[in-house]
Amino acid sequence: MLRTDHSLKFLPSDTSGNRRPLERFRRGAAALLLVCFAASALARSTKSVSTLQQSSGSPTPQQSGTPTTAAQQQAPTQPPGPHPPTEADILKGAYGPYRANNHLLYYHLNIRVDPDKKFISGVVTTRFKMLKDDNRIQLDLTEALNVDKILMGAAQLKYERKFGAVFVDFPETLKKGHAYTIDFYYSGTPVQSGRFGGFTFGKDPQGRPWIFTACEGQGASIWWPDKDQWRDEVENMEISIAIPNGLVDVSNGKFMGKTDLGEGYARWDWLVHYPINNYDVSLNVGNYVHFSDRLGSLPLDFYVLPEDLDKAKSQFAQAKGMLEAYQHYFGEYPFKKDGYKLVEVPYSGMEHQTAVTYGNRFENGYLGRDWTGVGISTKFDFIIIHESGHEWFGNSITAADRSDMWIHEGWTTYLESLYVEYRWGKEDAIKYLNGYKPKVQNLYPIIAERGVNANPPQDQYFKGALFINTLRSVANDDARWWKLLHDFYQHFKYKNIMTEDVVAYFNQQMRMDLTPIFNQYLRHTAIPALELKCDEAASTVAYRWKVDEAGFAMPVRVGTKDNWQMIQATTEWQTMKTSLKKDDFAVDTDHYYVNVEKE
Ligand SMILES: [Zn+2]
Repeated sequence: MLRTDHSLKFLPSDTSGNRRPLERFRRGAAALLLVCFAASALARSTKSVSTLQQSSGSPTPQQSGTPTTAAQQQAPTQPPGPHPPTEADILKGAYGPYRANNHLLYYHLNIRVDPDKKFISGVVTTRFKMLKDDNRIQLDLTEALNVDKILMGAAQLKYERKFGAVFVDFPETLKKGHAYTIDFYYSGTPVQSGRFGGFTFGKDPQGRPWIFTACEGQGASIWWPDKDQWRDEVENMEISIAIPNGLVDVSNGKFMGKTDLGEGYARWDWLVHYPINNYDVSLNVGNYVHFSDRLGSLPLDFYVLPEDLDKAKSQFAQAKGMLEAYQHYFGEYPFKKDGYKLVEVPYSGMEHQTAVTYGNRFENGYLGRDWTGVGISTKFDFIIIHESGHEWFGNSITAADRSDMWIHEGWTTYLESLYVEYRWGKEDAIKYLNGYKPKVQNLYPIIAERGVNANPPQDQYFKGALFINTLRSVANDDARWWKLLHDFYQHFKYKNIMTEDVVAYFNQQMRMDLTPIFNQYLRHTAIPALELKCDEAASTVAYRWKVDEAGFAMPVRVGTKDNWQMIQATTEWQTMKTSLKKDDFAVDTDHYYVNVEKE
């Protein structure tokens, strides 16, 4: 049972969460980190990722010579930290009136990819339901690609482009509650951008075409027209990719078949049976070979370059243990009808739904390194464990605005520790998590500004995971914690949520007001510091939390490792008796991510 006292209020009926003005964090400090993982890790790695990445023009660790930080690598026009959003940021990031007036039902992305001309062309069919009467909707497509025409039935629709937005106008008012379908024809050469390329026409090490997408940071509209935001998702989707014979396309969902189109091309059809967020939609075109396996009734499919087949057969065996571990904690794999896939790519990896991309050299650790530096990362393949964890957090549960992306990354980083705990026990899991501490920067709040396409900082990963582990200690009852995690996932699966939803659910389930704790870790830069004033003569210690958040109260264990004692610390001074000398009086900082200020 959780011990509560006066400082930990029972849940009031209104737990609507945080209303504070958000501190502004704009793309900058962590621009590269948007894409699922890897930016800082890649930047600091001393090994090359692949020949393709070098040839693609991305900076690589090998080229950089000395380790550099993500902030040094990202370089472009904006300095790190907050800056005012541009008009384009707002058009991209806001859930504006011409997005909010409709709800997505279905996409069919149907394109032809020409590796020689580095050219794509085709049509995206979008079905949506109007939520109010209106005659305009907003879709998005990068200015680098051409709008060829937009049709509703046979009628050609007018449109207006502004930055990356395409406002589609209808000759008659679309009626609330009715569903409509439009066909958006487009073409062009996508501009390669971002750490993982966005859309890359590359070559594999043997010089064969290798074409892939990874566009979390930039958004899917860098290569196909869509409602490019996080809040709304289609219910299902078809993906049809026409490519030259001899190549293989791996996209999301279930493989439905291949159709010969003549003229040396074949179309690969995939069906996504579930909601999917835009940045997860992917194509991977290469000279892949395929092997498969099953976990119970779940099909597992693996696609790698032929020269890597033996290594992959050995390394990808870890997928089963990963799935077993996550299913143990959260329940069934979220996309059973679509199956689970791992697809080799030349960048480190990405959580593309049911087609997780993998570029971790078929080695344990992360790009050849002990990622958390405590001897545990080397026991497993970081990319298989991390990117696949996103199937539960990121793909099934998705943040409704990228400002709250810690729901993807903080949780999935925490899931890594659950995998460790499932395999090797709690002690290793705690050690693994604490290995993340040196990576935390505490420069900007984890939650970025909402509605302006802002990128949260790197702390969303490591600090996010350490914060969730702290919540476990606040719960102070592992059986209850496992049930809470399971129920939390089940409650929100396939939904798009914000931090307020997480907080309200945890408050309700734990019957505590945890809002100030969430706020301190997610909406401020500093972590809580426990101030201690030791009076050895009187055998007392005075304690209180030093925090930014009013009303902050959190139990914490103090004393010695062999004899922890729970105190209900608040922001007010309280005094406890202790026989411990000042130097021996400790705080359980392995289980609570807090600072200690002792005097
Ligand atoms: Zn991730």
